[in-house]
Amino acid sequence: MLLSISRSACAGLVLCALTCFSVHAQAPKPAPVSIDALLARMTLEEKLGQLAQWSGGVTLTGPEAAAGSEKEIRAGRVGSFLGLWGADTTRRLQKVAVDESRLHIPLLFSFDVIHGLRTVFPVPLAEAASWNTDMAYQTARVAALEASAYGIHWTYAPMVDIARDARWGRVVEGSGEDPYLGAAFAAARVRGFQSGEVADGTRILATAKHFIGYGAAESGRDYNIAEIPERTLHEVYAPPFRAAIEAGVASVMTSFNEVAGVPLHANADLVRDTLRKSWGFGGVVVSDYTGIKELMVHGVAADRTRAGELAMRATIDVDMISAIYGSEMIDSVKRGTIPLSLVDAAVRRVLKAKQQLGLFEDPYRFCDTERERARVLTPESRALARTAARESIVLLRNEGNVLPLSKSVKSVAVVGALAKDNRSSLGSWNGLGIPDDVVNVFDGIRAAVSQETKVVYAQGAAPTSADRSGFDEAERAAREADVVIAVLGETADMSGEARTRTSLILPGAQQALLERLHKTGKPIVVVLMNGRPLALGWMDKHIPAIVESFFLGVEMGPGVADVLFGDYNPSGKLPITFPRNIGQTPIYYAQKRTGRPPSLQDPYTSRYIDVSWTPLYPFGYGLSYTQFQYSAPQLSATKLAPQGRLTVSINVKNAGERAGTEVVQLYLRDDVGSTTRPVKQLRGFQRVQLQPGESRDLTFTLDQDDFGLFADTRGRERVVEAGTFTVMIGGSSEAVQSASFEVTGSAKLQGLGSAIPRELRSQPKK
Ligand code: BGC
Repeated sequence: MLLSISRSACAGLVLCALTCFSVHAQAPKPAPVSIDALLARMTLEEKLGQLAQWSGGVTLTGPEAAAGSEKEIRAGRVGSFLGLWGADTTRRLQKVAVDESRLHIPLLFSFDVIHGLRTVFPVPLAEAASWNTDMAYQTARVAALEASAYGIHWTYAPMVDIARDARWGRVVEGSGEDPYLGAAFAAARVRGFQSGEVADGTRILATAKHFIGYGAAESGRDYNIAEIPERTLHEVYAPPFRAAIEAGVASVMTSFNEVAGVPLHANADLVRDTLRKSWGFGGVVVSDYTGIKELMVHGVAADRTRAGELAMRATIDVDMISAIYGSEMIDSVKRGTIPLSLVDAAVRRVLKAKQQLGLFEDPYRFCDTERERARVLTPESRALARTAARESIVLLRNEGNVLPLSKSVKSVAVVGALAKDNRSSLGSWNGLGIPDDVVNVFDGIRAAVSQETKVVYAQGAAPTSADRSGFDEAERAAREADVVIAVLGETADMSGEARTRTSLILPGAQQALLERLHKTGKPIVVVLMNGRPLALGWMDKHIPAIVESFFLGVEMGPGVADVLFGDYNPSGKLPITFPRNIGQTPIYYAQKRTGRPPSLQDPYTSRYIDVSWTPLYPFGYGLSYTQFQYSAPQLSATKLAPQGRLTVSINVKNAGERAGTEVVQLYLRDDVGSTTRPVKQLRGFQRVQLQPGESRDLTFTLDQDDFGLFADTRGRERVVEAGTFTVMIGGSSEAVQSASFEVTGSAKLQGLGSAIPRELRSQPKK
């Protein structure tokens, strides 16, 4: 498939793109255009052509459009491309569209720029572990700068799917399990991608995907159906999309799954009525890859014509790769099965997106070979990648303060093939990242320790192989070292699209290797590389130090070394629950109580007979090299009106000996509601940096957006219900202190309120 070709072949191509640039004369600027005037001049074929997205690919000489594309562009039958990049390539094709097609309408070039283009940043799940939305804004902004320099106008990010099932490989692409945290990152990333200036061609179009419920794939099996009650859809899966829309996202991508028997590519109820009418989204809806054609495989369309008609009626504007809009829909409109007004509305939205990027004024804004050469992987971008890498790390365990290590330790054994796996450091969906750009964990450690420190590497085991022939060498290296750093986990290819696992344990022979190393009695630090929560029960019992680093991008090694050797005090907190074993999946903190909440005393409660119901590491959990002390939360009132505001204050103190950053988390429970409510829901968080001994008063505000719930299952009417609420504050979803207050009356609320967390409602500084 295109994706695998482009991912594997891109390394050499980027080098070519960087070295084979040439200078082009600027074409004369077309006059500013009126969309209405343009639409009035378009033939039906040209209109449908704007809705057709063609695929690019990678040939030996570089990214290239499929054979025959130029003829199609000339005829006005292509509106956009997927998977084409490079200032030269995009300029050449753009020139065909602008100079040689009848109406001179510029093309859009789209690409999956998920966590960086050439400067690859931590995978989104890792970045969410930083709880640093300013940083997410910055990394998305750099990604946009680089993408736009490569001729890319449109990214298919951020992925804002809530994911609560660790088996699902695409957990790695999102912000984890929580709607509030997910909404915060959705807004930050959308703004980051879209905050560039139109005039200098650095603003790109972002896409919130995959609409909707894709993360709820049954059994965690990618592309599977999602069984989501309407209320859950609106309470859990919708908020990150709504936040993206509020932040001005230009496009939304529909998802491969069905909800309640209707695939999203045909789901007029959710796309046309909810996304557009109820939430007010006026931008472009793009199908997922061949998603329209797949309506036949779903069994809701007998043929291509019917598939296209269903998608059109659902107001899906752009047909990615199915090639149905540009062909079968011509007759559907002529026959009157599809009203021309539907086509016109979709074309208007596509043209408006082109207009928003200033492409009618200057279609070559993004095709600048000089910018492409000079503006990627700059020292500043690398510095940001390092900051992002270290802030994304979560310290899971540090028994006996094994960490941080001294840089003058005499000898270190680094074990595990992942320590030198540059490709895996980039994670899945790594844009145009090049393994050679990566500083891996081994090199990061080597560079951090003193000249005198002996650093020995032993592969021990490759992540996916059962081969144990490297165990003896690894054991020898461990015995001769003062400390063992074992880099274990998954390769990058084990998470991402179509990468569902039915096991969450370390793959291959890695667990056996770790047990061998453990027998040496040496202090062991495990550095984990993985794209999903793993089941780490044995490790948690026997290994003193565990560092969760996911996949951290080009600066993975330095980021990990900063934490291991104490140049950075870890501050990450898990954005997703880590289960004890796979049987607990799906597991998440914001569960409902049930009529029989789990209890040790009573077997007839909602629990297991063979393992605890609690997770191994809860949502929001992460250790530091210092300790933070919390005062009891103080509330500004114990009773308030339904539309009143409550202030919650707390004092947080760094009671240890190192400076550190704590992520203070506020959770809320509606104690009694007209429908059941989660045991707690994140409703605020703040990152606070404290010197040793320093303390800070923090305040959080809660109001109707936090107290309210939907009165209807369709997520259209909100109410605040009278009754008591419990506020919980602490350093994880479990380590909390509580206080109660009462809302004294009930009230109907106007509109849907804001899905963007209060602190992020104003735009960040560029
Ligand atoms: C994925 C999308 C992606 C698209 C285009 C699909 O297979 O589901 O997330 O944006 O391909 O590459």
